Amino acid sequence: MSKKDFIVKAVQDYAPTAIKLSDYMWDYPEVAYTEYKACEALVEELKKQGFEVEVGVADIPTAFVAKWGSGHPVVGILAEYDALEALNQKENEFEKIETAHGEPGQGCGHHMLGAASLAGAVAAKEYMQANGTKGTIICYGCPAEEGGSGKTFMARDGVFDGCDIAIGFHPSDLNIVTPGSSLANVKVKYSFDGRAAHAAGDPEKGRSGLDAAELMNMGVQFLREHVIQEARIHYAFTDTGGEAPNVVQAHCDVLYMIRAPKIEQVMDIYRRVNLIANGAAMMTETTCTITFIKGCSNLLNNTVVGKALHDNLVKIGVPEYTAEELEYAKKMNNTVGNTGPSEVEMNMAKKYAKTMPEAEAKALVESFEKPINDVVMPFIVSDIASAGSTDVSDVSMVCPCTYFYTACWSQGTPGHSWQIVSQGKGSIAHKGMLYGAEVLALTAIDFMEDPALVEAAKAEYLDAMGGKPYVCPIPKDVKAPVPPRA
Ligand SMILES: [Zn+2]
Repeated sequence: MSKKDFIVKAVQDYAPTAIKLSDYMWDYPEVAYTEYKACEALVEELKKQGFEVEVGVADIPTAFVAKWGSGHPVVGILAEYDALEALNQKENEFEKIETAHGEPGQGCGHHMLGAASLAGAVAAKEYMQANGTKGTIICYGCPAEEGGSGKTFMARDGVFDGCDIAIGFHPSDLNIVTPGSSLANVKVKYSFDGRAAHAAGDPEKGRSGLDAAELMNMGVQFLREHVIQEARIHYAFTDTGGEAPNVVQAHCDVLYMIRAPKIEQVMDIYRRVNLIANGAAMMTETTCTITFIKGCSNLLNNTVVGKALHDNLVKIGVPEYTAEELEYAKKMNNTVGNTGPSEVEMNMAKKYAKTMPEAEAKALVESFEKPINDVVMPFIVSDIASAGSTDVSDVSMVCPCTYFYTACWSQGTPGHSWQIVSQGKGSIAHKGMLYGAEVLALTAIDFMEDPALVEAAKAEYLDAMGGKPYVCPIPKDVKAPVPPRA
């Protein structure tokens, strides 16, 4: 039996357990740093499979490291399992039907991400066991990808040290290795404190935290002209002090998020925003407390790892879909008013089609018109950053790393939507998840069996780091914001 056939069989034999775990995490969605049920279920299964598991790494109760095997190469698979606030939705519905108002839901498909990562690690272990393969497979349990930068805290605390190669999977509506980089960011709270006073009776005694925050924002508006084009500075008032206009508001909180293509750029803008905040405090005779909440680096997309993932996406091949599944996806697409591919997608497809054999090119262009995308997108090497951010980036600063997507929902389904939740337990989701697990396992084994491939990935990683060590954007003394357990 070929290596590929072995892995595919191992994953398909394991499918009932993987699907059960994925559906369970869909049934019990838990938001950032509260993923106790998901973590316990995954850990229990990994232990059953013979993995040596450490729970609560990096001082995060829902983070874990599960190891099997010994020595190098060490290949890590990055599991996530957190859900999104207020996105609950009844399954397989073609309209928004909440199950419990305001409760969370699996709006980014991380239930599949967690289950596929575990299934990939288990299939790799089965292969290693059967073939006496040397090396270590690790399933990293990474909480709080959504707004919590769980992996960044884990990277800062050395959880990924010693890992030779890290790979990840994410559900999507395309089958593609992530092209390009992602934006680095930091999230920081600025709290201003002054003195309350009656705004008419004795305003001279008051020192307004609200005024300070407004002046800070004013300063930042002027800063915008003097930062790089690609930078983004967002803010939200989270506490304006109160609702009475006849009171000098003593306290005010404003939350900032700063993004840019490189973490060094973010840190420099952050430094300048701090100067403005302190200036605003000085002007108003208030105090400013700066609370660093979270941050993540930009993705160093390793092309050796990316190419290996891409080759296996092609080698294993996209799942086949039944007429019922295509009909289901079409109906789902109607709910988003999907009128076919966007101009950007179409232009991209046409551009890459030019470099491909005619039949493949035709399939690529046509795939964007289908209810479920059924081709593997070309492997694209680009240093352009996507508009989003991910904490996978901080793993990519510690070792060669990248991730890929498989189609787990109908084409054109918007990110973080009720439609994703609705489709999360369907057969299209399960097929995409198992395909993801197969690609993870096969790629892990490819690296285990080929030291030269590991070395090539490492050489590229070292080159990208430019001789500098990894500096985590989260300061040492900042703890992951884990709420008390309910
Ligand atoms: Zn996600």
